[in-house]
Amino acid sequence: MPQHPFTPADTLVCRSAIDGSIITTVAAGDMSAAITAASRAFNSWRLVPAPIRGALVHRIGELMREKKDELATAIMRDIGKTRSEALGEVQECIDMADFAVGLSRQLHGLTIASERPGHRLIETWHPLGLVGVITAFNFPLAVWAWNALLALVCGNPVVWKPSEKALPSALALHAVAHQAIKELGHDHALLSVVCGTAEAGAALAADPRVALVSATGSTRMGRQVATAVAARLGRSLLELGGNNAAIVTPSADLDLALRAITFAAVGTAGQRCTTLRRLLVHTSIYAQVVPRLTSIFAAVRVGDPRESGVLIGPLIDHVAVSAMQSALSDACAQGGRVHGGEPLTCCGEGAYVRPALVEIAANAAVVQEEVFAPILYVSAYEDLATAIAANNAVSHGLSSAILTNDLREAEYFLAPNGSDCGIANVNVGTSGAEIGGAFGGDKASGGGREAGSDSWKAYMRRVTSTINGSGALPLAQGVVFDLTAG
Ligand code: NAD
Repeated sequence: MPQHPFTPADTLVCRSAIDGSIITTVAAGDMSAAITAASRAFNSWRLVPAPIRGALVHRIGELMREKKDELATAIMRDIGKTRSEALGEVQECIDMADFAVGLSRQLHGLTIASERPGHRLIETWHPLGLVGVITAFNFPLAVWAWNALLALVCGNPVVWKPSEKALPSALALHAVAHQAIKELGHDHALLSVVCGTAEAGAALAADPRVALVSATGSTRMGRQVATAVAARLGRSLLELGGNNAAIVTPSADLDLALRAITFAAVGTAGQRCTTLRRLLVHTSIYAQVVPRLTSIFAAVRVGDPRESGVLIGPLIDHVAVSAMQSALSDACAQGGRVHGGEPLTCCGEGAYVRPALVEIAANAAVVQEEVFAPILYVSAYEDLATAIAANNAVSHGLSSAILTNDLREAEYFLAPNGSDCGIANVNVGTSGAEIGGAFGGDKASGGGREAGSDSWKAYMRRVTSTINGSGALPLAQGVVFDLTAG
């Protein structure tokens, strides 16, 4: 059976998750050389006016629009997303380009009232330095776009360590970005990609020349990166795992809720950081919700994602299938009732499974962990406070949702004593965020915020300046320092 990662010394073998066939082989890159070149590029790029930097991102966005289909096909082939989801991921990159271009004229600081006459306080944002980006397999392009397009307009070069499980799509995107760099005559070292395994990522994290390490992946990886970056007092931005819950209350529109739950739980074969993994259903509607969901899970079409009508493609590899099967047997041992979840034979060596729905207590040990596969744990609750406590009881804090038509329930969920996640939705599933808002989670989900809103500040350094135009020299806090006294 093909397994990821493929790590013979200098060559990475890239396989398609659809059928396990070899797509290509790729030479491992030289991380130190890429960092050296990018550090040099920073010296001039930081002085280019931000709107001119935005013009480069604008061209990258145009080319991504032109090559949308090609890039989506590469995503599909690498990791087995359906065409619609792969196109959606490229659209997310284009949306980020549009957002970053606008931002390139809005990297604004503040003017703050001074306590001293004739003085002014200002805050200015300057480029930070080299940004290292480590990405996970499941969003092989979008996470680069969240980071790299903001980093570029903020005045920083980027060195990218893509997932070793999705290299061809990363290289296809990189080629598009480089076409724009070439057309506009910029330094090619502004954007580089270094193919490699975890070791290449670790080298990026440890290098003191990298001002910001933005790492997306498992919580295990995030702990290692955070430790390495903190040891050199660098800056890290972590987007890690999730163990996301949704609460269905008695007032919920059940048709809407079932659609939201199904997309969030089984879309992308349960391989999103925001995938719905825990469902908390009020006891009064449990008997209506669970049989309907079980039937949907049993009927949803799993298979070759290139075929129309297929909604669930393969898992990334057979290691993921084993992890899923092991979680399901643990769930049985812990009193769970499992519906579905069996491995399916489909295309060649592809790793296909039927999504699983597991009826189990919300506090069972197996429910507390993220397993990167389509397993939805369903539990009944009696009162909303208990459901919110269960939502918050896991170590992760990425995404959450409430399905309700009761305003008070929705507001409780969103209140400071409600969901503790970075994303808290009402009548929308846990996955499928737009780029306009800041994306990320707290606790073991890493604490980072990327994409929209004011996430750009992570890629810049803030300078506070006091400017004295008065001719006198009053000191702050009324301090007197009179050289003529005594
Ligand atoms: P992973 O942690 O195995 O790998 C992610 C990346 O980190 C890869 O490029 C890998 O080579 C690199 N890496 C691994 N160990 C490293 C180390 N010690 N130092 C530096 N780099 C290292 O994750 P995966 O299997 O590719 O992706 C699935 C995980 O990613 C899930 O936990 C999912 O929830 C998470 N994820 C989170 C987000 C988010 O925005 N919060 C988005 C996508 C995926």
